[in-house]
Amino acid sequence: MRIFNTLTRRKEEFIPIEEGKVRMYVCGPTVYNLIHVGNARPMIIFDTVRRYMEYKGYQVNYVSNFTDVDDKIIKKAIEEGVSADEISVRYIAECKKDMADMNVKPATTHPQATQEIEGMVDMIQSLIDKGYAYAAADGTVYFRVKAFKAYGKLSHKNLDDLQSGFRAIAVSGEEQKEDPLDFVLWKPKKEGEPSWPSPWCDGRPGWHIECSVMSRKYLGEEIDIHAGGEDLIFPHHENEIAQSEACNGKVFAHYWMHNAFLNIDNHKMSKSLGNFRTVREITAQYDPQVLRFFMLNAHYRSPLNFSAELMESAASSLERIRECARRLSDRKGSGEGSPISEAEEALLAEAKGFTAKFEEAMDDDFNTADALAAVFELVKFANSHVTEESSPAFAAALLSLLSTLTDVLGLILDKPEESLDKEIEELIAARQAARKAKDFAKADAIRDELLAKGIILKDTREGVKWQRA
Ligand code: AMP
Ligand code: ZN
Repeated sequence: MRIFNTLTRRKEEFIPIEEGKVRMYVCGPTVYNLIHVGNARPMIIFDTVRRYMEYKGYQVNYVSNFTDVDDKIIKKAIEEGVSADEISVRYIAECKKDMADMNVKPATTHPQATQEIEGMVDMIQSLIDKGYAYAAADGTVYFRVKAFKAYGKLSHKNLDDLQSGFRAIAVSGEEQKEDPLDFVLWKPKKEGEPSWPSPWCDGRPGWHIECSVMSRKYLGEEIDIHAGGEDLIFPHHENEIAQSEACNGKVFAHYWMHNAFLNIDNHKMSKSLGNFRTVREITAQYDPQVLRFFMLNAHYRSPLNFSAELMESAASSLERIRECARRLSDRKGSGEGSPISEAEEALLAEAKGFTAKFEEAMDDDFNTADALAAVFELVKFANSHVTEESSPAFAAALLSLLSTLTDVLGLILDKPEESLDKEIEELIAARQAARKAKDFAKADAIRDELLAKGIILKDTREGVKWQRA
């Protein structure tokens, strides 16, 4: 399995720290609003990476945080006149709902920054003790970037270039910093903001230290994969490396994976630009599996433009897979028929070639677009070789091949259960009552009324069955 590593800008063979195990950390969302489709991209992509690793037999320890203390959360709380806690609790619950809809597995651990403050204070203290950090007069603690010689190795920036790009301290109003490159580890509280005690001042942690601490606590000092959207490469991930490696004296993460942006009209979808669509809006319009398919149909390192056309095309492609699965399932359930024939055995061996193709694509830096192409080859193969004469066992074996692959991609093939409107349910019950009372004219009238609503009723020995017209 080869992974494109942002650190080396090359595809590298994946060698885990511990055989058969993967330690993986994915930076999660800041919870002050419903997540948008851009935020959904890393969730779906890295969930698929995890699923593929598990399919290959790895035991994956998958950690993804919620940033639940942040300026934006505080601002929202003030706007609504509620506590910051109320905001983050609400949007963590909403985010988990969206994740479940998109079939993103819950992480092994979903740590929350506010529950890990003690660990952050400890790490900041170690950094001060080792000379990598300093407290200013007002209690703000800064990381001393120049003390960490490898700074810039992930984003491939060199310190001199960075230095010239930064405004002078006097201009930026950060006179208490030793150097403009230094970043905040701990900041003093402002009135009305959530805060915690520390040796430096009552205050709260900077964003970057959260991930260094949570990653170490749940995965150890040295991990296999650290991931997130490409906007996090600098400064967030660069700063995480500086903090963790300076503190622990070990390589922080061996492989750094970054997804490209989800764009809209060729601009990054983001809350601050106001050009976002929430996952909730989209899943009201489409089956969430269509959104998942749409994401997987592009390479995760290529920018992806969100459009109604692409969503419609994702919907019809997914339907093709589902239709094939339904046909196979019907044939499998047909019960009668001869056992699998020799000719079918040969076809099955051929069909396994599509699994090999799928794996080859996924092994090549998780090329989900090519993996889906292999799935479609299997669909085409099944459509042309499974007929009314095929054995149920043959159909069953092909269905099993197909669903193994779609499971790896996290695509659910069953359509969401159709639910009858309350009104329709009541009409069916009223018709039953009319029939019981031998008022057949009324019963027929209700049947016609349902037909007008697109519901066909069938009276069978097992009772009333219905279907959409
Ligand atoms: P945030 O809540 O902004 O910290 O973002 C949470 C995760 O979503 C991070 O991994 C971001 O990199 C990612 N992300 C945010 N916007 C986009 C986008 N438009 N396309 C892809 N990933 C994004
Ligand atoms: Zn992070």
